[in-house]
Amino acid sequence: MPEIVAVRPEQGKDGQHEHVGLLGYHSDHLKSEPIMVPPQRIIDKEALGEKFWVTIDGERTDLVVGKCPVCSIEPYLRTAADSGDTERLLELPPG
Ligand SMILES: [Zn+2]
Repeated sequence: MPEIVAVRPEQGKDGQHEHVGLLGYHSDHLKSEPIMVPPQRIIDKEALGEKFWVTIDGERTDLVVGKCPVCSIEPYLRTAADSGDTERLLELPPG
């Protein structure tokens, strides 16, 4: 059950807001630095039964598939702790 620990933001199409470009997690095989993958890869893995999570305010928080609060692109990965325009994934350390 990997924890998402890093994010690499990318510009949205309008250049005015950021998207989650890549997300990083630690695997059992490679502990030193997170493996960076596109959000779609996480969505696919969760569809196959793997569960990812993120620590927010000290709490283990689920990821949810939704849409971008700004441009409505979907599927778009967010956290269960997001509300409105707040994207907690974008607050993770850069990876
Ligand atoms: Zn967007």
